[in-house]
Amino acid sequence: MGIATESQQENKAPSESTAAEKKRWSLNDFDIGKPLGRGKFGHVYVAREKKSSQIVALKVLFKEQLKQSQVEHQLRREVEIQSHLRHPNILRLYGYFYDQKRVYLILEYAAKGELYKQLQNCKYFSERRAATYVASLARALIYCHGKHVIHRDIKPENLLVGAQGELKIADFGWSVHTFNRRRTMCGTLDYLPPEMVESVEHDANVDIWSLGVLCYEFLYGVPPFEAKEHSDTYRRIIQVDLKFPPRPITSSAAKDLISRMLVKDSSQRLPLHKVLEHPWIIQNADPSGVYKC
Ligand code: AMP
Repeated sequence: MGIATESQQENKAPSESTAAEKKRWSLNDFDIGKPLGRGKFGHVYVAREKKSSQIVALKVLFKEQLKQSQVEHQLRREVEIQSHLRHPNILRLYGYFYDQKRVYLILEYAAKGELYKQLQNCKYFSERRAATYVASLARALIYCHGKHVIHRDIKPENLLVGAQGELKIADFGWSVHTFNRRRTMCGTLDYLPPEMVESVEHDANVDIWSLGVLCYEFLYGVPPFEAKEHSDTYRRIIQVDLKFPPRPITSSAAKDLISRMLVKDSSQRLPLHKVLEHPWIIQNADPSGVYKC
């Protein structure tokens, strides 16, 4: 496949080719299977690339809807960023093509679907499971930040699960490739750090905050600053009104890690490599990076 070059067994591109011979894809290259889900701008199907027989997810987006919502620029950025990332915990974007009405994204297939649904089913995760996911995400974010990519929208809805139970960050719609500090407001309020809620400059440390929010949600089943009114969530975020409910019972080490990530001053948040060295991660995360249900 055109864009892919580095080979990783678990998410290798179908019909791998060299960068010099970039392939032009079309719908004829795929057998289309069952629908996997519906997004805001179109549908996602499981598909098989005919030449390699590799299973992929084909995301079909309607140009008209993209235009109406003025997200064409965002989509271009998402494709540009995601297609260049190669990490076991980041969903591969192998390539794209389009016809008159639609844009097609060729994505790595995440066989176990959305993490969000699994969290809804379980209500909350065990510490072992939560720590394994947090460690995977920390490693993926270290990789992204090393390439000057900030995700800015880490939340359960944007996480998929691969066939082995490995977490995959999907949806780079709000990500930016940056060397500078940013001021743009984006993402869902619940996961946003104070500096983004207040629209002041922000940098890669925004992802540490979101990881803290996510760690809390894995363990308690709800995000930490949830409130009925938007304005209350806003206030709770900027005051860092962090409370740990008595149930489910959670270790003090887990609370310690969350408290070190959810720090208002972004420069004082626990750096991601230190997250990986935190005793709660060391004691609980599965070293294979995979949580098997
Ligand atoms: P989206 O448009 O990205 O929100 O996708 C809609 C739904 O399709 C998601 O909620 C998933 O259930 C499913 N889906 C999207 N991408 C994939 C993928 N790469 N592998 C498996 N399922 C996916």
